[in-house]
Amino acid sequence: MKHTPTQPMSTGLAALEAQLTQDLDFLELPAKPWVPERSRDGVPVRDVVVIGAGMCGLAATAKLVLTGITNVVAYDAAPAGLEGPWVTFARMQTLRSPKTLHGPALGLPQLTFRAWFTAQWGVEAWQSLDKIPKGQWMDYLIWYRKLLGLPVRNGVRMMGISPVGDLIAIDIDGDETDRVLTRHLVLATGRSGLGGFAVPDFLMGIDRAYWAHSADDIDFGALKGKRVAVIGAGASSMDNAATALEAGAGSVDMLIRRKEMPRINKLTGIGSQGVVLGMYHLPDDWKWKFFDYTASTQTPPPRSSTLRVSRHANARFFLDCGIVAVKQDAEGLLVETTQGPMRYDFMIAATGFSNDFSDRPEFAALAPYIRTWSDGRYTPDMGPSRRGMSDAPDLGPAFEFRERVPGSCPMLAHIHCFNDAAMLTHGKVSGDIPAVSAGADRLVRGIAASLFVEDVETHFANLMAYDTPELLGDEWVDSTPLPHKEAAL
Ligand SMILES: Cc1cc2nc3c(=O)[nH]c(=O)nc-3n(C[C@H](O)[C@H](O)[C@H](O)COP(=O)(O)OP(=O)(O)OC[C@H]3O[C@@H](n4cnc5c(N)ncnc54)[C@H](O)[C@@H]3O)c2cc1C
Repeated sequence: MKHTPTQPMSTGLAALEAQLTQDLDFLELPAKPWVPERSRDGVPVRDVVVIGAGMCGLAATAKLVLTGITNVVAYDAAPAGLEGPWVTFARMQTLRSPKTLHGPALGLPQLTFRAWFTAQWGVEAWQSLDKIPKGQWMDYLIWYRKLLGLPVRNGVRMMGISPVGDLIAIDIDGDETDRVLTRHLVLATGRSGLGGFAVPDFLMGIDRAYWAHSADDIDFGALKGKRVAVIGAGASSMDNAATALEAGAGSVDMLIRRKEMPRINKLTGIGSQGVVLGMYHLPDDWKWKFFDYTASTQTPPPRSSTLRVSRHANARFFLDCGIVAVKQDAEGLLVETTQGPMRYDFMIAATGFSNDFSDRPEFAALAPYIRTWSDGRYTPDMGPSRRGMSDAPDLGPAFEFRERVPGSCPMLAHIHCFNDAAMLTHGKVSGDIPAVSAGADRLVRGIAASLFVEDVETHFANLMAYDTPELLGDEWVDSTPLPHKEAAL
């Protein structure tokens, strides 16, 4: 059968959904709710609030609900269907990763992208599919959320976090109430994690009319006929350069500091369940070694994205071209590079994201209390300090933050950093598609254990109060001779 996405076989999807419902039933999922209800001064308290309903937020919320932790809500600032990068600032045509990854399926075959796709367009279409179109990945995530009935509220932004006794108060904007109380908070806030865009110093002070970050909302139509420079050699630099070229940019120069293009995807190359499950348990110097090496070798842009740029005659690649300074004047941008001065009308910085918590107002109050790798986990004998690694948060086994000064902010132990910033401590299980289910599993095991332990008195009281007999007393006759009967004989 041909891949005809415009004519989906809805009966196929209905059959898949019925199969999934049966699988869940066989596995007794969702598990029965088990967390005792709580309120504070008459105000109901959530067991878990998840911020972000992108892929990680959905996987975490689904895993919580399946584990019987149902007093949960996920908030996302974006409108429904526009969460995450896929149909907003991701400018690639297809996903970068292979189509076969299980993603957020949580070990349920019927919940995979592959099942969703083949149910609608058939096995042959699956076999002829190269990589997943990004819009189709978003459609799959929308289906995932709807099918599992996940409690997500869109258009709601978290504005701040503060402690209220042993609870966490979250200030929100866009819902009926402006404050919610919760026992645990999961920050599934995406690639920018807890920080924001990483912007090179040479762009500080340059008018925003002349430059954008690759994750900005860029008016590519306005670049028609213009001289554009793109900084970087990663996937996003190629995607943005290609989009500018396709929009009619006069020329696009890739300004690449390294002497050679990164060509080998090292960490993906050694990907295994060992890496997924074992990375967290490595000693700190080994964790550092892995991620320092990966950061230095860098991830290559996909071949198709690179060809999407190089096929344009007005695209140029400048390797070994470091930027020394950028000035703006009447003619646009004057860029001093290690290869001499260059002139541009607009620059796109595909320079990634930072872990600088103070960059995001909603985390600013927490920032001084959060222990990072530079507060003791990193030591100079591991190698040179590297921004993005030494400022990564030092997390516990369930992605929970730790305090820089013990006792200074106890609520951090109930705030879980389930986003890209967790990578140095946990490995790549809370950002990319390959291992997000393993990450959600680890997160929810930790939250479930914490909720149970904190409620131990209630659970013990329930144990003592439980009085439903399984034996009714009429199942046997007691023939044991009693000692006093024997004595009387
Ligand atoms: C351009 C791009 C392409 C990528 N391609 C791939 C790929 O092909 N394969 C792969 O494995 N990985 C890829 N990734 C990496 C990763 O899979 C994605 O970043 C993915 O979106 C991560 O999911 P997430 O849930 O952590 O973050 P996101 O999908 O970004 O979701 C985070 C959500 O949090 C919400 N949010 C943030 N702050 C607040 C707040 N204060 N209040 C309320 N809501 C908030 C945002 O609105 C957003 O919807 C890509 C990343 C990018 C940036």
